[in-house]
Amino acid sequence: MLTALKGNILEALSPDTLGIHPNSYLVLEDGRVAGIYPVLPDNITEAQVEDFGDALILQSFADMHLHGPQYEFMGTGMDRPLLQWLDTYAFPTEARYANIDYAREKYRILAHDLIQNGTTRVCMFSSLHTDATLILMEELEKAGVTGYVGKVNMDRNAPPYLCETTEESERETLRWLEKCKRFTLVKPILTPRFAPSCSPELLSFLGKLKEERDLPVQSHLSENTGEIALVAQLFPDCRQYWEVYDKYGLFDSKTLMAHCVHSDRRERAAMRMRGVHPVHCASSNNSLMSGISPVADMLREGQAVCLGSDVSGGTTLSMLHTMANSINASKDRGSMKQDVSQAISIEQAYYMATGAGQAFLGHGIGFQAGEPLHAIVLDDTGLPKLPNITLRERLLRAVYRLDDRHIRAVYSEGVRRL
Ligand SMILES: [Zn+2]
Repeated sequence: MLTALKGNILEALSPDTLGIHPNSYLVLEDGRVAGIYPVLPDNITEAQVEDFGDALILQSFADMHLHGPQYEFMGTGMDRPLLQWLDTYAFPTEARYANIDYAREKYRILAHDLIQNGTTRVCMFSSLHTDATLILMEELEKAGVTGYVGKVNMDRNAPPYLCETTEESERETLRWLEKCKRFTLVKPILTPRFAPSCSPELLSFLGKLKEERDLPVQSHLSENTGEIALVAQLFPDCRQYWEVYDKYGLFDSKTLMAHCVHSDRRERAAMRMRGVHPVHCASSNNSLMSGISPVADMLREGQAVCLGSDVSGGTTLSMLHTMANSINASKDRGSMKQDVSQAISIEQAYYMATGAGQAFLGHGIGFQAGEPLHAIVLDDTGLPKLPNITLRERLLRAVYRLDDRHIRAVYSEGVRRL
């Protein structure tokens, strides 16, 4: 069936290129993108048109780093330093996900709120609990959120109530992989929490599993200086943090590494050569005083940087806010270094919040023909009608001034979900 959305269509075609289609038709065939046209071509005039007037039609968001079980306490304890915050909020909350009824209730809310915020693609950490992880995948799939979810692995340097033995971690990972074969939109991703929380034996098991089953991997890298010192102490044979993941076969083009705040030229070169995708999480880096990631440098070097909300080190599920936070953080870095080239553009922010994640997940960028539609309709028409304001300027302004209350429609996999 032919349908079309009408409005001002903006697509992120590359970190530097915004595709702008004023007052145009996004034509769909059975929920898949057929093309974008300024006027409906003669052969498809029978398409059923949904007219969104002067609103903006954007790609929906890909949140490439967040922790499912942490959503419920987002914003709590934000005046505590990292270790106190983890001990008081993060770890005790994650432990509650041993209870599957509790997990069901919380994950249903999270899945709903993601769609409400226009996020239809994710790469998410669950907790170490296999059954709760399956519930998370189920709730996301039901709500229309697609992407990857990982059962967390941690067999050391974790509180005793939230730690597996190496044997348990391996066995549960295999059980989880077996059980998640039933999902179609949400797939498994191996998730060593971070190098310090996994023994060499467990990392080596995960590396082999990745190779055998061709699985993607997500973890954390060079988030803060204390963590980097701990890695150096735990893995004295590795010169830099990334070499730990690399040594165990967990560092290639199917790998997402959250943060990379303190990744120097050598670490960044290694990521680039292996095609690893850094995930920038500006809100979390600010909250936990980790530092400011050199995002503009990474983009200039050709890294495939994605954005993540990093709920709940990050304080918002909104990828609009996450884009604004990223632009702000890059300007803070520019101010500190007295270097305006550290600031990122709206083109870069929009691409990192959408296309970079799409590419990691194996989808075409922008509204590529043949792809199932992932889009939002963002209504900025309540904002002042400034003379001569361009669509590019309206997108940037919307990122700063709008939130989920202004999202009028959300499409995921070709289906309208809001
Ligand atoms: Zn994280």
